[in-house]
Amino acid sequence: MQAVTILGATGSIGVSTLDVIRRHPDRFSVFALTANKDVKRMLEQCLEFKPRYAVMADVSAAKELQQAIKAENIECEVLSGNEGLVKVASLPEVDTVMAAIVGAAGLLPSLAAAEAGKRVLLANKEALVMSGHLFMQAVRDNGAVLLPIDSEHNAIFQSMPAGYKTGTKPVSVRRILLTASGGPFRDADPKTLGAVTPEQAVAHPNWSMGRKISVDSATMMNKGLELIEACWLFDVGPDDIEVVIHRQSVIHSMVDYTDGSVLAQMGNPDMRTPIAHAMAWPERIESGVAPLDMFSVGRLDFEPPDLERFPCLRLAFEAAEAGGTASTILNAANEIAVDAFLDERLGFTMIADVIEATMNAIDFQEADSLETILSTDAKAREVALGIIENMVVN
Ligand code: NAD
Ligand code: MG
Repeated sequence: MQAVTILGATGSIGVSTLDVIRRHPDRFSVFALTANKDVKRMLEQCLEFKPRYAVMADVSAAKELQQAIKAENIECEVLSGNEGLVKVASLPEVDTVMAAIVGAAGLLPSLAAAEAGKRVLLANKEALVMSGHLFMQAVRDNGAVLLPIDSEHNAIFQSMPAGYKTGTKPVSVRRILLTASGGPFRDADPKTLGAVTPEQAVAHPNWSMGRKISVDSATMMNKGLELIEACWLFDVGPDDIEVVIHRQSVIHSMVDYTDGSVLAQMGNPDMRTPIAHAMAWPERIESGVAPLDMFSVGRLDFEPPDLERFPCLRLAFEAAEAGGTASTILNAANEIAVDAFLDERLGFTMIADVIEATMNAIDFQEADSLETILSTDAKAREVALGIIENMVVN
C-alpha cells in the first residue's frame, strides 16, 4: 500500500491522479491533499478520499475548509500556507508525492519531498526549470526516486534502456526527440496572433489542461520549459534534444539510439497514462484510458518548429544554453507575462517580448543555492512587472 500526498489535488493533474487512485483502492491510500483556494472541490475530495491532512495554501481558504470539515464531521486535519505544504510532502508516513502545483509556488514543497527521499512524481516542471541543479542534487543526496509525469518526459523515460534511473546519463543514446503538438496557433497567420484572446489561447486542440500550461502550449514556451526539464531529468544538453512538431499527439516523444533504433511511446493524449505509469512503476496498472485506435489516428505527421513564429521556444533554447539562473529568470518572467495575458493586461505576442526584455535586464549567475534561486525569481518578477507597466503606459 502506497500512502500518497497530492500537491495541487484540485487541478487538472490532481483530478486525473485521484481518478487513477479511485481505480486501485488496494494499492494506494490518500494521505494528504493540497490546493490553493478551491475549497468546494477540496471538500468534495476530502469526503471521498478521507485524507489525514488537507492543506490550503491560502490562509482564509484554510479557515473556510476547516469549518466545512467540522460541519461534515469527518476526521481530517486542516493546515495552511507553505509550512503545511512542506509538512505533508515530507512526513515519514508518506511514500509517494505527486508534485502537481502549477508554477514556482510548487518549488519548496516539491523540493521538500525530494529532500525527504520520497518517490516524487513530478508534474511541476517549473521546479526543475527554476532550480534543476539543486533539485537533482536533492534527489541524489537523499535517495529519492524521481519519475516524470509530463507526458513527453514520461515517454522518454519509458523509451530509455532497461534499468535507467533519472538524473543519470543514458548509455548508447544519440538524441532525444521531444514531440510537440504546436498548440492552437501552429497554422495561424503570425499577423493575427496579436489579437488572440485568453479563451482562444487556452483551447488546446489535443489536451485538456490548466490555464497556465495551456497558454504555455500556445506560445510553445511549454516546449521550451520541457526542453530544460529534459536536460535535468536525463542529464543531457540542449544540443542532444530535437523538438519535433507532431500534430496528432499520439507519439509522446522518442529516443534515438546509436545503432539507429528509435523507440517511441504512443497512446491517446490522456494524462492518466503517464500518471498510472509512474504510480505503479515498475509495474503496470489499468488507467481508464481508452485503447489507441490506429485506424482513426490514420497518419502521423512530423515537421520542424518555426522559431520565428514561436520566439518563446527560441528564448528557452538560449536560457538552456546559458545555464545558471537564466532559466530561473525565463520562468519567472513567463509566469508574470502569462498572468498578465490571462488578465487581459498584455497582448499574446507581447509575452515573448516581456521575457526577452527581462532576460536582457538581469545578469545571469551560478544557480548554486536556494537563496540565489529565490532572490533571482523575485527580482525577475519585479522587472517583468515593470516592463509590462511601461508597455501598457506607452
Ligand atoms: P491547474 O491550474 O489545473 O492546477 C494547479 C493546482 O495547483 C491546483 O490544485 C491549485 O489549487 C494549485 N495551486 C495553484 N497555485 C498555488 C499556490 N500558489 N500554492 C499552492 N497551490 C497552488 O494546473 P495543471 O494543469 O494541473 O498543472 C499542474 C502542473 O503540472 C504544472 O506545472 C503543469 O506544467 C504540469 N503539467 C500539467 C499537464 C496537464 O495535462 N494539465 C501536463 C504536463 C505537465
Ligand atoms: Mg508535456
